[in-house]
Amino acid sequence: MEKKFEKVDCAICAANDTHEVSTKGQFDLPINLVLCKNCGLGYLNPRWDQNAYLDFYQNEYDKYYRSELTADFKLSPKSDNPILSRLGNWKHLPKTDSVKNILDIGSGAGQNLIDFKTQYPAANLFAIEPSPDSHKHLSSIGAKVISGDVDSDWDKNNEGKYEVVIMRHVLEHFLDPVAVMKKVHKVLAPDGLLYLAVPNNLKPSKNLESRWFRVVHTYYFNKSSLYNLFALAQLEILSVGEGDQINQQEIFLAARRAKRVLTPKIDRADFMKQRAIFEDQLTQENKFIPRLKRKINSLLN
Ligand SMILES: [Zn+2]
Repeated sequence: MEKKFEKVDCAICAANDTHEVSTKGQFDLPINLVLCKNCGLGYLNPRWDQNAYLDFYQNEYDKYYRSELTADFKLSPKSDNPILSRLGNWKHLPKTDSVKNILDIGSGAGQNLIDFKTQYPAANLFAIEPSPDSHKHLSSIGAKVISGDVDSDWDKNNEGKYEVVIMRHVLEHFLDPVAVMKKVHKVLAPDGLLYLAVPNNLKPSKNLESRWFRVVHTYYFNKSSLYNLFALAQLEILSVGEGDQINQQEIFLAARRAKRVLTPKIDRADFMKQRAIFEDQLTQENKFIPRLKRKINSLLN
């Protein structure tokens, strides 16, 4: 399918004043990664349009990223779940009998839901997940798929329903993260808990252009941009971690509905900081790679 591109303004501050970071992404799929000069949010612009992404997730995503979803794939009945251990360390785990409904947005095959079910045996399990292969696994564990599309109106008739919402490495894939977080605010129970994790762009892995930058990652968050995004959705961050022994390149947090009105803190210094991290690393990596290519060529010839 021929992919169409669209232009977008900054999701946080609505500016369209950007600094170009890179046009190279993983698997040589084309990207246009920019930073908002006003607030520092990283995002793809122009990017594939909604139809192009939908087509990619339905027909190509599993081939690139979910090779474990083959015939002999088995969900593990018990695993050490980093979400449960991190929430436990923060003392944010809800009481066992207080959790009736758990929603995992971007659940994949449902491993997190299985692990939460061992902690909360009475809870009903729900998922938002586009992959048809994952749907089979989800129904086998008794989880109900409420939508295959996070941009649909799955929040309707689910106000205040979920005591726990999980979003593990999905926010960075979305086309409208503010709209999704507003829906999450709506469906969270008044004292419900949100766990969210995304790649931390202040501590990226090696090989930015062949690994870290990806066509499927439409947004590139850090602690400041997450705070601003959550403020727009009136979600209050309770605890945040930037890397631990489980994953050094991850930012993870616990949040709930804000009890007071939150406003974003737009600061150009956040742009300068993020730009320096990316550009210093790109300079290092692009110095090395051409040298390596020359060496390989000289060995081949
Ligand atoms: Zn911005």
